[in-house]
Amino acid sequence: MQRLFERVESIPLNPYISLRRYLYSVQQAYVHAKQYQREGNLEREALLLLRIATLVQKTISKHPDYVKVQNANIVKEFRLYAQLAIKRLEEIKPLIDAKENTSETLTIANAVQEESSQAVLQNNVHLENDLLSSAPAMKTRTMQVHEEMLFVFESIAQKNTKNNKETCGVLAGVLQNHLLVVTSLIVPKQTGMSDSCEMLNEEELFALQDKKNLMTLGWIHTHPQHPCFLSSVDVHTHASFQWILPEAIAIVIAPTDRQRIGIFSLTHPGGLEYTLQCQQRGHHPHPEHVPKGFIGEGKLFYENCNHVELVRDHSIRYEVYDLR
Ligand SMILES: [Zn+2]
Ligand SMILES: [Zn+2]
Repeated sequence: MQRLFERVESIPLNPYISLRRYLYSVQQAYVHAKQYQREGNLEREALLLLRIATLVQKTISKHPDYVKVQNANIVKEFRLYAQLAIKRLEEIKPLIDAKENTSETLTIANAVQEESSQAVLQNNVHLENDLLSSAPAMKTRTMQVHEEMLFVFESIAQKNTKNNKETCGVLAGVLQNHLLVVTSLIVPKQTGMSDSCEMLNEEELFALQDKKNLMTLGWIHTHPQHPCFLSSVDVHTHASFQWILPEAIAIVIAPTDRQRIGIFSLTHPGGLEYTLQCQQRGHHPHPEHVPKGFIGEGKLFYENCNHVELVRDHSIRYEVYDLR
């Protein structure tokens, strides 16, 4: 199994992302992998476990803060997650071997089975795309969000909005009857500016989600005076969510725009892959379309989601946690 990881590429390190933020991503990826395990969705589970192991072993271990003494405890946690992921992948291997695979298309099962096939693993971006677009287990699931929750968030954010400061929140929830249901709006501690918003204290956020068994399904933020779109900073934030959950959504509330509410996700393959390899930070120009030579070239960077259902009746309930 170790040899497999050595050949799988990971996403490049972004040293401006803190170790804490990376840990939150790894924790969330693991929560989602566990959920796939409960569903018996081996393909998605294996894909996420593979990503956790490669992210820790190939990317995060190169982080400049990784070797600092004060981070010893975080490093221990990263190593634990990588070990858990590898251990589970080793358990899955015989299960995948036993599962009859009638699909013509390459699946993660083949990837795990064919450890010796260099060609298969050399470009795991292509591999993942094949997986996500064709295997039935990878079908996009519908996400339900209560419309009222968006208005509740807007009123929570109102004070900041008046002061031209952005507010952000995490959309968390559960899987119910093959639907992803947003059941919680969590407003973490944060610092907001006129054109960006940064979550703080991911530890507290994860502790709450862990206690309540809530998976991260996306995020929401306001644009007090800007139009309804995803800035380059937003696109990078969203990539870290969508890398874990393909259905993850980004909701923008822009009171001054005629569109007012936008529900977006990055194109995949396309905007997601471009963003994951982009090493720039802060606001920087991103082309409107994926440039030539990149996977998914010519596609829009992000688009309006068509897998989200806004619920207006009382068929779903939601809670609000304001941690500020
Ligand atoms: Zn924004
Ligand atoms: Zn970028």
